[in-house]
Amino acid sequence: MNDNAVTEGTTLKGIAVSPGIIIGRARVVDRSQQKIIYQYLINDEEVGREVERFKEALQLTKNQIMDLKNRMSDQIKEHSFILDAHSMIVDDTMVSDTTINTILEEKINAEWALKKSLQKIKQLFKEIDYEYIRGRINDVENVTERILRNLTGKGYESLSKIKEKVIIVAHDLSPADTSELNTSMVMGFITDMGGKTSHTAIIAQGLKIPAVVGLESATNYVQDGTLLIVDGYKGEVIVDPDDDIIIAYQERKLYYDKYISSALRLSYLPAETPDGYRISIKANIEFLEEASAAKDYGAEGIGLYRTEYLYLMSKAVPGEEELFQDYKQVAEIISPDQVTIRTLDLGGDKFLSYHGFGDEVNPALGLRAIRFCLKEPSIFKSQLRAILRASAYGKIRIMFPMVSGLEELLEVKKVLHEVMKELEKEGVKYDHSIKVGAMIEIPSAVMVADSLAAHLDFFSIGTNDLIQYALAIDRVNEHVAYMYDPYHPAVIRMIMQTVKAAKDNGIEVALCGEMAGDPLCTALLLGTGIDELSMNTGAIPLLKKLIRSLSYEEAVENLNEILKLTTSKEVREFIAKKTETLLPEIGVEGLSLNMATSNS
Ligand code: PEP
Ligand code: MG
Repeated sequence: MNDNAVTEGTTLKGIAVSPGIIIGRARVVDRSQQKIIYQYLINDEEVGREVERFKEALQLTKNQIMDLKNRMSDQIKEHSFILDAHSMIVDDTMVSDTTINTILEEKINAEWALKKSLQKIKQLFKEIDYEYIRGRINDVENVTERILRNLTGKGYESLSKIKEKVIIVAHDLSPADTSELNTSMVMGFITDMGGKTSHTAIIAQGLKIPAVVGLESATNYVQDGTLLIVDGYKGEVIVDPDDDIIIAYQERKLYYDKYISSALRLSYLPAETPDGYRISIKANIEFLEEASAAKDYGAEGIGLYRTEYLYLMSKAVPGEEELFQDYKQVAEIISPDQVTIRTLDLGGDKFLSYHGFGDEVNPALGLRAIRFCLKEPSIFKSQLRAILRASAYGKIRIMFPMVSGLEELLEVKKVLHEVMKELEKEGVKYDHSIKVGAMIEIPSAVMVADSLAAHLDFFSIGTNDLIQYALAIDRVNEHVAYMYDPYHPAVIRMIMQTVKAAKDNGIEVALCGEMAGDPLCTALLLGTGIDELSMNTGAIPLLKKLIRSLSYEEAVENLNEILKLTTSKEVREFIAKKTETLLPEIGVEGLSLNMATSNS
């Protein structure tokens, strides 16, 4: 062990990105950044040669990435778009042209010029408000590191060659590295770098190997052969554990493995209580690529397709055709089940870098969602056209976010009808009986839910925002995060009122906020008589298992008790006690298990 030697059983804390517990020996792989030396080039001939050398390194890098893509196992083939994205980074002018220009203008070596390009790109990414896109800088760094290694002739140790059972320990792993891991040998991995939304994390979930990232200095503490316990639920790594810790973790591992595989095995079964009450369990997705995983985990359709991400990841507003292809594919993958496509919910905490939003003091109360769409009718209409056109290829429902009252809803529906008429005139096919719904996520919409219901086919309660607006706490402000409270009696009453308005008017009602996937809220929500819960894909198996062990009759009785409680603390304690006794095998701690899939 090196200077940073740790005492037996030291626990390192990182970010859990792929669940599971593994106990094994470390294999440290060198993915540290290359040391780069500045070199001044004396004459034009040298400069010309340097440009050629850089172009060759680019080509070699592209070939390596394509080779990795071709060798991707079937298990993770659906993530091959990540390697396509890496190949596009090699071609990106910020990487290729900028570096070549720097070599030519400053007469410096390719390695140094590339380093300068990377610094510029990093600066640009830093200014992006949206965390997911900012996280993509890791992909750019991975690709430039590969180009640098090709320039210096150092190459990469291929991880596909590993022949013993090990846990990989690295400063950082690129998605390309991760995609070639031999999972019959590599039990899992830990890295100093990385975050929850990194593509490396997405691939680890696809490979179903435990992974903890963002440990900051794990490579300082661990050397080849060090015994490790990786807890992919809690995001912890225990270095050099003693026998007692090993035994405790072995038991925990056996227990969770058994529990999770039983939940997964049964996840294709309907979410039906033993006394015959059936509720529909669907998935929330952000990307087309998540659709098939949602099915594998037992989703009975998509209850919320958040469509902003395609806009956020593009350099300009995506065209109707691109949107149509995306929605059509999701509908085809999910068919015969239904996909609920939510129209753009930009603003709030999601802004387009290429479209001015103007500075708002309170963006959550500003030009967000349908307010933005009504102000930008061409963007809105092009999305509506794409959704309607896709509805000819599968079962699609349209859902409007942030509806605050009837006038606004009628205005939005007017635009929808205009678009329908246009398509009819053009002879374009779409589902003429397409269902139209609204998210109920603003308190005013709850209060007038009965009048909204008369103009809609369904509601979906967005508790993430409903809690924000009802309790007056900014959902992205860490100083008031402690007040974000799904057990607040006001929130429960608002949910009840919305469900009642839907039932009284004979329309369906769903809930798609994070509460839907929180096992502690399941009994409560079931008792309301809600038709559908839509949640992050990883939560589905456990939720289904839970519902299959709950009695509907008892859930209704419990809800009546809950409605008499006056504080969140009482509500939470009551629910925890009831739920724990329903699933005594895993207890309240186990209820936070999330069999995460490709959720970013
Ligand atoms: C919600 O507000 O509960 C919701 C599901 O939508 P989002 O989290 O995208 O705002
Ligand atoms: Mg919302």
